[in-house]
Amino acid sequence: MALLLGVLSVSAGQAQSGVEKLYILNCGEGVAGDISRWSPGVNEGKSMDFVDNCYLIKHAQGWFLWDTGISDAVAAMPNGLAPADPKAVTWHRPKTLASQLEQIGVKPSDIKAMAVSHTHPDHIGNVEMFPTTMLYVQKAEYDWPGANDQPRFKKEHPVTLLEGDRDVFGDGSVTILSTPGHTPGHQSLLVKLPKTGEIVLSGDAVHFKSNWDNRGVPVNNFSKEETLASMQKVADTLAKEKAQLWINHDKAQRDTLKMAPEFYD
Ligand SMILES: [Zn+2]
Repeated sequence: MALLLGVLSVSAGQAQSGVEKLYILNCGEGVAGDISRWSPGVNEGKSMDFVDNCYLIKHAQGWFLWDTGISDAVAAMPNGLAPADPKAVTWHRPKTLASQLEQIGVKPSDIKAMAVSHTHPDHIGNVEMFPTTMLYVQKAEYDWPGANDQPRFKKEHPVTLLEGDRDVFGDGSVTILSTPGHTPGHQSLLVKLPKTGEIVLSGDAVHFKSNWDNRGVPVNNFSKEETLASMQKVADTLAKEKAQLWINHDKAQRDTLKMAPEFYD
């Protein structure tokens, strides 16, 4: 028994913790036709440049990818990917996700775990580039029927279904926050970096800064009530953790941030 306890305490002592680095990857650039789509009655007819980010995190226990962006296939489309609704975003892929991972020296099979904020095409475009990577997704999102009742993900993709928040590595450094509203199982991510400090990655809990300031709820969101509650949850998290909010699609903000291969530590 004493021996067994000894072994257990040694393995507990060896459990590695903490985030070492965070890279922001270019996962798409686009133009929104009419941003009143994201805040009804405000800025009618006004177009805006959007960006789309993925975030690659080096944790002591392995690599973690947050969102996968627009499909890399869009890089080969000269006119980009046009939306059905002209008010929405026409997306381009100036750089592929694959090429940015390669530049950092990470192979898709090196990525131990991943999560997507939600299942819109600008976030799940490259999930199957990582067929063996454990995917963390809310059950409400996973079970949400797609077009023609299609499943949101391939059945064979390894998955951990969540019902609420999840401390991914068990050390509080990477926490998935359940923030439904944009979609039924939307989620955001709280990351604790050793020097930069705490950051909340928004997903599409909000799309750009003025929408955050005004609590604008996009026309097509799944639930207005849940969206507002999730925005409040993010605001409370920012206050409690003294965290910054990095808004995925906000070009003006991202233009102030370092892109891969530079990183935050
Ligand atoms: Zn989006």
